[in-house]
Amino acid sequence: MGNSATAEVKGEGNVVLKMTSGKELTLSNVLYVPEIRKNLVSGWQLNKFGFKMVIESDKVVLTKNGLYVGKGYALNGMFKLNVMVVNGMNNNATSSAYLLESSNVWHGRLGHVNFNSIRHLIKLNYIPTFDIDSNNKCETCVEEKQTRSSFKNIERITEPLEMIHTDVCNLKAIPTRGGNKYFITFIDDSTRYCYVYLLKSKDEAIDKFILFKAEVENQLNRKIKKVRSDRGGEYVSPFVELCEKDGIIHELTPPYSPQSNGIAERKNRTLKEMMNAMMISSGINQDMWGEAILSENYVLNMIPNNKKDVTPYELWTGNKPSYKYLRVWGCLSKVVVTPPKRLLIGSKTVDCVFIGYTRPGGAFRFLMHDSKNPGINNGTIIESKDASWFEHVFPCLGKEKPSCSRPVEEIVSENKGTRDDPREQSETEEVEIRKSKRQRTEKSFGPDFLTYMVEEEPQTYQQAVSSSEGPQ
Ligand SMILES: [Zn+2]
Repeated sequence: MGNSATAEVKGEGNVVLKMTSGKELTLSNVLYVPEIRKNLVSGWQLNKFGFKMVIESDKVVLTKNGLYVGKGYALNGMFKLNVMVVNGMNNNATSSAYLLESSNVWHGRLGHVNFNSIRHLIKLNYIPTFDIDSNNKCETCVEEKQTRSSFKNIERITEPLEMIHTDVCNLKAIPTRGGNKYFITFIDDSTRYCYVYLLKSKDEAIDKFILFKAEVENQLNRKIKKVRSDRGGEYVSPFVELCEKDGIIHELTPPYSPQSNGIAERKNRTLKEMMNAMMISSGINQDMWGEAILSENYVLNMIPNNKKDVTPYELWTGNKPSYKYLRVWGCLSKVVVTPPKRLLIGSKTVDCVFIGYTRPGGAFRFLMHDSKNPGINNGTIIESKDASWFEHVFPCLGKEKPSCSRPVEEIVSENKGTRDDPREQSETEEVEIRKSKRQRTEKSFGPDFLTYMVEEEPQTYQQAVSSSEGPQ
């Protein structure tokens, strides 16, 4: 179990869930474990048997072959399925069923982080409790032969901004859509909170440092005291002069010993490996690595260093991070189109691929995959809060010629004159899609989906309308 305890299995058999939709869901190979007080249904198993699970606004909708099966709503970190009766071998006091989110989904949402870190987040009650089967391996991570170790626990004696570790990582073999070829990290030694910026050339390192310095010194009301880097060409003049002018001590690691720049070095390696896992598992075009790195960094700031019970995010901001907005990178998302871009006849949504979190707007970033809407081109980047999620579906995997794996040149020429840094400017033609609460009719879910929209449990709808915030 999630807390590494074990419980005795007293039997195995079939269980029938009578959903409030009137449909019956027969589950086979159900284990009877008297010690577990909740009836748990594995989302992973449902997925394997052809069920589609859509999560949005604290609700989950189950469909199969386009037909509505049932729904559930978020309750205490799990999804409680709307069932009338649970018929089976275990007719004890509880007659409700909970959808068990699979460890694979959280492994994906957390950017292929190691399973020990996931266990740690469960233990801290940061994410819902679920079973992590030690035999259940992520295919991507196995293929990559990565056994990503937990983060080292090193005692810190610094205060925030007393020491900043920095390094530049070169990915120039594959430029992003906007022509970025490098990324630079700034890691605060005391909190391990990390900033990442994308660079077109190494010369931009100095600009990003000025940007980083202005933001963090103002936000934390402190001054940067020391910066540690290797002897890379980006940390010579004018970087040296800038540090001197502001009284910052610039510590250089000894030549030919990258390990002494260990923290920044390790961070770059982790970011690169996890980005790679995200790219492989989603099949998304390689020129999206910039979005992957930024998403990865966003997630890593929400994962505590080994054995620590506090996340870098909390140490840095003073607030607890929220994990409920994390989604599996590269998955299918149907984004609601608002007027005037909405079609009068046809789908109200467009098929997108999820590529990241906005900051600070609290929305998600999507790459248009299959628009079917002449007003929105495939390959456009959209920001929206209003989407339905298909976290087991990866539209860019194994397709012949999907929009998001078109040749780089084609996309760049199509969007001439636009720039590409998700942090500071929009990547391409950007379509702002605002939250629309009422328009969620999705034809492919079948006629029952309308019923689901209308006959909302009051508490669920309250939760839905009150949760207008997004990722921090
Ligand atoms: Zn993985």
